[in-house]
Amino acid sequence: MQLSPDIGLCAACRHVKVIQSARGSFFIMCGLAKTDPRFSKYPVLPVLRCLGYEPQLEEQNQQQ
Ligand code: SF4
Repeated sequence: MQLSPDIGLCAACRHVKVIQSARGSFFIMCGLAKTDPRFSKYPVLPVLRCLGYEPQLEEQNQQQ
């Protein structure tokens, strides 16, 4: 899924997870929150600065 750049760094981060609710809404979840309490499970968007940001791998971009 192509995420809007309006959400900030999460749009291009390898740790982002996109969750779809039963009503069709989308939520952005940070995968790092599972193992690191410094990160919020549901980050406040847009995320403009983040210690955990890592760009997506080329393969991930092609699959989405
Ligand atoms: S590590 Fe930061 S930029 Fe990456 S998904 Fe989590 S909150 Fe977003």
